[in-house]
Amino acid sequence: MEDETWEMDPPASRGARWRMAAGQLEARGILDRRVLEAMSRIPRERFVPPEWAEAAYDDGPLPIGCDQTLSQPYMVAVMSELLELRGPERVLEIGAGSGYGAAVLGLLAARVVAVERIPQLLDEARERWRRLGLDHVVGAAGDGTLGWPPEAPYDAICVTAGAPAIPRPLIDQLRPGGVMVIPVGSRYIQGLWRVRRGRNGLLEVEKGLGCRFVPLLGRDGWKNP
Ligand code: SAH
Repeated sequence: MEDETWEMDPPASRGARWRMAAGQLEARGILDRRVLEAMSRIPRERFVPPEWAEAAYDDGPLPIGCDQTLSQPYMVAVMSELLELRGPERVLEIGAGSGYGAAVLGLLAARVVAVERIPQLLDEARERWRRLGLDHVVGAAGDGTLGWPPEAPYDAICVTAGAPAIPRPLIDQLRPGGVMVIPVGSRYIQGLWRVRRGRNGLLEVEKGLGCRFVPLLGRDGWKNP
């Protein structure tokens, strides 16, 4: 059914979403009401392969095909909260994957550009955003370590794959005063960094919790899969 559209906050999974928001997010210190509300509305079961739908609200990452994973709900919430979005922002996400993270960001900001290097994943993510009516969330195919120059600069950048270092193009495409959240470290373990680009051009880096993301592959990322 090509024209089937999907509801936000579908009643069938509402209870599971509320339990996730209360038990996994609020209970662990997520305070931003807009993040909690966004994640209480997006039907996460639509972003995973059908055989994983029942596990969609479990407290962990999920496989999405092509050797990639959808992050644990708590990690999506932490990253979204760190970006301090208030509504009017233009956001760049690197690593669209299933499209779930970008859909959450889409309820928090005015525009989201999500870059993905695996065409099949991007096609599926685009279809999900379309069905949910998220017309201001758009996909871009390519190497996200180069950012996405056509719509730069961005108020916020969310990198959802682990980087060896902060890719220079992403700093350049961040508006002065803007914030980037990025996992930086080895291929197997990273720290979640929040990078603020000062109005004087200086970068302020805060190092946060430990995490484990799939590698950011590309020119300014890891060189081989
Ligand atoms: N935010 C995603 C998480 C996906 S996992 C979600 O909500 O589902 C990380 C994704 O980053 C993978 O899909 C992987 O293919 C992608 N990726 C890795 N390196 C990339 C790069 N240089 N440019 C764009 N996408 C990249």
